[in-house]
Formats: sequence, structure tokens, C-alpha cells
Amino acid sequence: MSSSTGNGSTTSGFYRAIDGHLCTHENCALRTSRKSGNYGRRFLGCSQFNVGPKCGFFQWVDNETCRSETAPLVRERISMLENELQIVNQREMRSREMEERSNQREREAHELYVEAREELKKIRESERLYKLALVLSWLFFIFVMLLLCFASMNNNVRVRTLNLP
Ligand SMILES: [Zn+2]
Repeated sequence: MSSSTGNGSTTSGFYRAIDGHLCTHENCALRTSRKSGNYGRRFLGCSQFNVGPKCGFFQWVDNETCRSETAPLVRERISMLENELQIVNQREMRSREMEERSNQREREAHELYVEAREELKKIRESERLYKLALVLSWLFFIFVMLLLCFASMNNNVRVRTLNLP
């Protein structure tokens, strides 16, 4: 779009049909310039611009504005918008990082929970075994005590019977 200079009626003389098409006033596209030097200025351009191979058709529609007055204002506005965009992007990045961090924490907390549950299961299992061992040892102790009692009673009986005559 910078191939033409001068007033609104200038047309670039570069018509070349790369893929066989050739734009004319009837089938070209009306667009608006976003470049800071010609910001907001409308032009007729190739209908295939940004789509496929373009033929190079170009013609300004609006007259050239007084650049020395508008360009600084436009540039200021653009840089303001760019700054705002940058701030928004930074905020988005920060919120994404925070989200990622909280997701990470959630995952870690879940892993800890699973580990703790496993640990508790193991502890309960061993507690059950200890209780069983305690009961068995008490039963064994009682059994031994009873054996000793019986043994001493038998001895007493035997001693008494021996002493009787
Ligand atoms: Zn074209």
C-alpha cells in the first residue's frame, strides 16, 4: 500500500496477475489503513490480499490527511493502546501462572492425601496384628499358669499321699 504516493487519485501501476486474476474497480476490496502514517485512510486493494497471491491493485480513496497534525496523535493513541494491551497480557500471564501454581498445589495435596490414607491403612493393619499378638500372649500366659497350678497341686497330692502312712 505504500507503493503509491501523492493525492487520492494515484493508482499503483503494478498490475500483475500471479494466479490469473486481475483486480479492477469493480472487484477490488475497500480497506482501511492501520499503519501509523496513514492510519484510518481508506484504500482500494486487491481482493486476494491476505488470502492468496495478490495482483498488486492499489488505490487510495481518502485524501492524504495532514500527517504532521494527526500522526503524532495517532501514534500516541496507538502507543497508549499498546501499553494497555501489554498490561492486560501481563495480567493474563500472571493469572495463568497463579492458576498453574494452584493446580500444582492441588495435585500435591491430593498425592499427600493418598499417601496418608495408605499409611493409615498400614498402621491399622499392624495395630490389628499387635492386638492379636497381645491376646495370644495373654492366653499363652494363662495356659502356662494353669499348667503350673495343676503341676503343683499334683505334687502336693503326691507328697500328702506319700506322707500318709
Ligand atoms: Zn487482485
